[in-house]
Amino acid sequence: MLLTVTDLTKTYATADGPFAVLRGINLTLAEGETLALTGESGSGKSTLLHLIGGLDAPDGGRIILNGTDLTALDDAGRARMRRETVGVVFQQFNLIPSLRIADNIAFQARLADRHDADWCATLAGRMGLTPQLRKYPEQLSGGQQQRVAIARTLAPRPRLVLADEPTGNLDETTAAQVLALMLELVTDTGAGLLMVTHSDRLAGQMQRRLHLAQGLIA
Ligand code: ADP
Ligand code: MG
Repeated sequence: MLLTVTDLTKTYATADGPFAVLRGINLTLAEGETLALTGESGSGKSTLLHLIGGLDAPDGGRIILNGTDLTALDDAGRARMRRETVGVVFQQFNLIPSLRIADNIAFQARLADRHDADWCATLAGRMGLTPQLRKYPEQLSGGQQQRVAIARTLAPRPRLVLADEPTGNLDETTAAQVLALMLELVTDTGAGLLMVTHSDRLAGQMQRRLHLAQGLIA
């Protein structure tokens, strides 16, 4: 298994007292598998992705990613896993305004010391971004910017891609196109994909699908 999550719990402290967002999550993801995660707003989807991505630590349970127990690592160890094994795509494109598209695409791979110019050029081509490489993010449409963000995520060749409503800011037609491109590339690289989405239609394009409610996977 690429990812095994066991009995994962997370409680937030709020003004009204402790709030148990995740109450014992179990899930697995095989190498190269695509999994959609649905659930109402506030059901804890982003919290779960943050924990799996090592951006935050759970209260209990285990996350085994690529053979490593994330929950046994310190902040620095989790940061290394995040750089080397996981790629994250958010709803906000989070591009760097001062960098050209080519350098935005290469940014994460350079950070991870895994820059490969040929692979970046291939990604840009597959994403239809070759004519945009010398431009800056503000000169691109939303759909183009999200394609840059996806190429940037795939540039270091992550084993696991986590996507949190990646097409939520796009109109339906553009969202479907961007998702299709992302699925195609993720499949080609053999990475696993865990994607949060509100859209039944987009979830239907993934191999498997889980629903989060009341802090549990239904
Ligand atoms: P989703 O992505 O499914 O909409 P989230 O994981 O963002 O859900 O949030 C789940 C619940 O946890 C929400 O009620 C949210 O308000 C709460 N929450 C999220 N992050 C925090 C935080 N850092 N501190 C306190 N409560 C939080
Ligand atoms: Mg969310």
